[in-house]
Amino acid sequence: MEKIIEVKNLHKSYGEVQAVKGIDFYVETGKLFAFLGPNGAGKSTTINVICTLLNYEQGEVTLDGLKLGVDDAKIRQQIGIVFQDSVLDNLLTVEENLRIRGSFYGLDSKSLEQAIEEALKVTDIYELKNRRYGQLSGGQRRRTDIARALIHRPKILFLDEPTTGLDPQTRKSVWNMIEHLYKNQGVTVFLTTHYMEEAAKADYVVVIDNGQIVAKGTPIELKDKYSTDSLQVKPINKHEVINLLKKEKLDYSEISDLLVIPLNSTIEALPILKLLDGAISAFQVLNGTMDDAFIGITGKEMRE
Ligand code: ADP
Repeated sequence: MEKIIEVKNLHKSYGEVQAVKGIDFYVETGKLFAFLGPNGAGKSTTINVICTLLNYEQGEVTLDGLKLGVDDAKIRQQIGIVFQDSVLDNLLTVEENLRIRGSFYGLDSKSLEQAIEEALKVTDIYELKNRRYGQLSGGQRRRTDIARALIHRPKILFLDEPTTGLDPQTRKSVWNMIEHLYKNQGVTVFLTTHYMEEAAKADYVVVIDNGQIVAKGTPIELKDKYSTDSLQVKPINKHEVINLLKKEKLDYSEISDLLVIPLNSTIEALPILKLLDGAISAFQVLNGTMDDAFIGITGKEMRE
């Protein structure tokens, strides 16, 4: 296991506001890392510091063995960043936008052409290369933004809510491309997202709230620890089922015409179903989700 990003005791304030209050975490090479938190938690501040865009008061950060504050120019060679707001020129074509960006990296013309071609291919926008950026659809723009961030073949790609604002189908296709980057291209992806089904695909998740890390783990570990499974039943006679549950001292809540019974594990549903046999017309056992885990950790819903 190799750590490509390591953050130790990082502090960052804006005047009186302590945005990041001494956080520690690391990211493993070639993995999908999700950095989650409610609005105002400190995600952007942390990312901006790591990406050399913002100074900080205290802490140690290394990226690919390079020390933040010492090797910043080299760090910038190793990272690509896609923020929510695009920085590309609407009037230029996709290829022209990439060429301008690529030219900042001092490549000779042959290497530049090669880099542009690779970035177009890996993001699956080769056939769009002569279209003006301003005329692309939302998903095509996102791909182009990512291609721009990949033009210098960075080892780490920072994606700040890459699929926000896209329709579900486009989100899926942009997501497939992101998967291709870390699964097949060896790029480490540092992701923030409001979509918990994306976070659930991460190799590792760190949750920040109020400038502090409040949970870390794989999605499975977080779901296990912070969300609960439940049994939903549809009573034939609600009163009767409630009485049966009360007699057994089982917790429940009502959601419209259903009763929801929390479980420590799905197997606990079996004796309850036996108890309710004949008194219910339908049931389902639900596993805890990343959404539940997020609410369990932060007490807040992830706002979109
Ligand atoms: P997130 O990205 O998780 O929404 P941010 O890192 O943007 O959170 O913000 C963390 C905290 O720092 C918030 O309280 C926010 O209001 C504050 N903050 C962020 N940027 C600035 C700034 N430029 N000046 C002052 N306060 C800021």
